[in-house]
Amino acid sequence: MNQSLVEHLACISCSATYSIDSIRYHCDCGALLQVARTEPWTSRVSKEVWAMRQLSTNVLDQSGVWGFREAVLNLPSTDIVAHPEGRTRLYTRAKLSAFAGVERLAFKHEGENPSGSFKDRGMTVAVSQAKHLGVQAVACASTGNTSASLAAYAAHAGLKSVVFLPAGKISTGKLAQAIGYGAICLAIEGDFDTAMALVQKSAEKLGLYLVNSLNPMRLEGQKTIIFELLMQRNWQAPDWLVVPAGNLGNTSAFGKALLEVHAAGWISKLPRIVSVQAAGANPFYLSYRDQFRRAHQVKAETVATAIQIGAPVNYAKAVNVIKATQGVVTEVTDGEIMCAKAAIDRAGIGCEPASAASLAGVVKLREQGIIKSNDDVVCVLTGNMLKDPEATLKAATNEVRSIAPTLEAVAEALR
Ligand SMILES: *Cc1c(COP(=O)(O)O)cnc(C)c1O
Ligand SMILES: [Zn+2]
Repeated sequence: MNQSLVEHLACISCSATYSIDSIRYHCDCGALLQVARTEPWTSRVSKEVWAMRQLSTNVLDQSGVWGFREAVLNLPSTDIVAHPEGRTRLYTRAKLSAFAGVERLAFKHEGENPSGSFKDRGMTVAVSQAKHLGVQAVACASTGNTSASLAAYAAHAGLKSVVFLPAGKISTGKLAQAIGYGAICLAIEGDFDTAMALVQKSAEKLGLYLVNSLNPMRLEGQKTIIFELLMQRNWQAPDWLVVPAGNLGNTSAFGKALLEVHAAGWISKLPRIVSVQAAGANPFYLSYRDQFRRAHQVKAETVATAIQIGAPVNYAKAVNVIKATQGVVTEVTDGEIMCAKAAIDRAGIGCEPASAASLAGVVKLREQGIIKSNDDVVCVLTGNMLKDPEATLKAATNEVRSIAPTLEAVAEALR
């Protein structure tokens, strides 16, 4: 059987389908596309085969994305650009359980990916597909992490990469990565949403392959956060899965992954997804409060620059996910985000501001009685603490003390 026939692009709104290798991000009807399969991938593999790959020394098996390849994308292994990525840790800390008032609380740290954020999970798939298609250049708009990830994977693949950044709104750590890995960096006057609109137009007119999460390949890779988490938990699904929400790629990918394994009976219950937005960048929350009557747009402003997005491109997919998982959308202030970040940092785990929105969201839903103290909760930490040192330094209450190079001065300082 030619397995490449199994996958195609399907419209999420009408019944149109397109070849898996067509370069397009929307249906003719204007709606988003997703990867669909003529038979469920679960019929082609088992949990046991996936588990066995953890012991393999093959580079694809060692990837926390390609180790789940049946559910990701069927590509010749010679086209796959793997760092490898994934295989991130799952943390529990009594301190953080106490902070949130939830006994069973775990953190999957996607900041442990090669470029320091979960973006690598989707980028390995999008850049592999780019290589498979033989494109000349890949591009994205980015609040920082997508550009860092794209630059790293494009460098690995030997492809030219172009990143569209909102001028002055990218943290130093992320910008340095994009530059260091060798991307062409364009600072766009305006915000992320302006850069996103411009890169879409440029992709179409200038033949750049677009790898924002509008690209359905990205989401197939991001699904593996869920598979890996479930594997780490012996396929016991949590009650809640809490994720920071910007362009809504993760919200969409997590829902897709959960529905796929739930339909196959690999998990016995469907966790409820919580999308947490920053109060200053809350279009999805506004729509949720409106029973999703319409997509809202805002002028986004938050300390959590990774989720500073006013017009999320995956809106329609994410709405379906919140409905299908009985999910919740909430918002947290910058103060609440930085307070949660300090708790995560002081637990010795650490994350960038946007990631801490997950914990801040749990605190909020606990206060509102929506999450109960005996619920089983998993937060996804989306990015590494080193991504945004300015934010950490600015919020810190302790400081660096300058002392004379003498034993007496040390003793004095420790008193
Ligand atoms: C990209 C990003 C997000 C937002 O994820 P979406 O899938 O766009 O909602 C959150 N946190 C970090 C650290 C990110 O890099
Ligand atoms: Zn359509």
